[in-house]
Amino acid sequence: SLTAGIVGLPNVGKSTLFNAITNAQVEAANYPFATIDPNVGVVEVPDHRLDDLAAIFNPKKTIYTTFEFTDIAGLVKGASRGEGLGNKFLANIRETDAICEVVRCFRDKDITHVDGSVDPVRDVETINLELVMADLETVDKRIGKIEKKAQTGDKEAKAEMDVLEPLKEVLEAGKMARTLTFNKEEMVYVKQFNLLTTKPMIYVANMGEEDIEDPNSNPYYITLKEYAAKEGCDVVPICAKIESELAALDAEDKAIFMDDLGIKESGLDKLIKETYALLDLKTFFTVGPDECRAWTFTNGMTAPEMAGIIHTDFQKGFIKAETYTYDDMMQYKSEVALKEAGKIRQEGKTYKGLDGDIMFFKFNV
Ligand code: GDP
Repeated sequence: SLTAGIVGLPNVGKSTLFNAITNAQVEAANYPFATIDPNVGVVEVPDHRLDDLAAIFNPKKTIYTTFEFTDIAGLVKGASRGEGLGNKFLANIRETDAICEVVRCFRDKDITHVDGSVDPVRDVETINLELVMADLETVDKRIGKIEKKAQTGDKEAKAEMDVLEPLKEVLEAGKMARTLTFNKEEMVYVKQFNLLTTKPMIYVANMGEEDIEDPNSNPYYITLKEYAAKEGCDVVPICAKIESELAALDAEDKAIFMDDLGIKESGLDKLIKETYALLDLKTFFTVGPDECRAWTFTNGMTAPEMAGIIHTDFQKGFIKAETYTYDDMMQYKSEVALKEAGKIRQEGKTYKGLDGDIMFFKFNV
């Protein structure tokens, strides 16, 4: 499954946020596949649509789809030069699918900042430069390997050099590889390099409790948002301290606390949803009296591929998917009524799933 790595400078609130994630972690009894890696937190993706479907079907079990965060502590200035445990941490980031970068926006004179003051843009530039330098090393190494071959006229090597050279240029200018655009053939190479700065990224502005009702009242958040907008990245405002308290509460107490704070959605829930969207992930549902369940699929997947997420046998023997939409179910309230209204479609092998599809797979064993 896909995972987002949590990175950031020391003392910005990463552990506090990760603590919130582990507090909110799913129960292993319901999700037996959930890992016990202490650096990984598996959380449910909140989805009111699943709650609405469960209210109709009244199933024995309701199972949310999940998403993973990985704690990548210890990224410091100089990591790309191997300082601290630098290289190891950069290697850990390489294994993630997206990056959540925690940035300190809270004011608290009792908590020292590694660089002496609160300055979100400086912090972001520090971290991002490490990522850029690590990528530059990757690119340089690769160039060293294939340069000669390209010069002697090897077509493959030359095509790859045509991708590596602009990458090198951009990285040397201190910019992320993400700022370049590539065509389909070029993307094949780019993917192989597995660069850190091509991964989708989101900033997490860690703010004080006093800012949480109105994040825009925090000037650091505003500055960070403006900076991120230029990079095409989103910023999720969060108060890690409050999130770790919220995540320890049961649903009822959580609702009361959130009401007191004047917020409708927890920062963690917002972060989960935004990261999910960042990776172009969508949700489909399976429903019935035993179980209502949400499943994650990647945008663009076909019906057999979606069936394969549930079980490889479903994909191998795929015949068709009886499909209807969440919206139609909300209108008609039962499968019988949907059928009478002609709202249940028979979708074949080439059908591309849509967010909110409710599916029942028919397959040969
Ligand atoms: P890490 O080094 O990035 O993992 O940072 P920690 O999560 O250990 O946080 C560093 C310090 O900042 C701890 O003393 C936290 O209690 C404190 N801290 C984290 N988030 C907040 C916040 O939102 N407000 C305030 N005032 N302190 C925070």
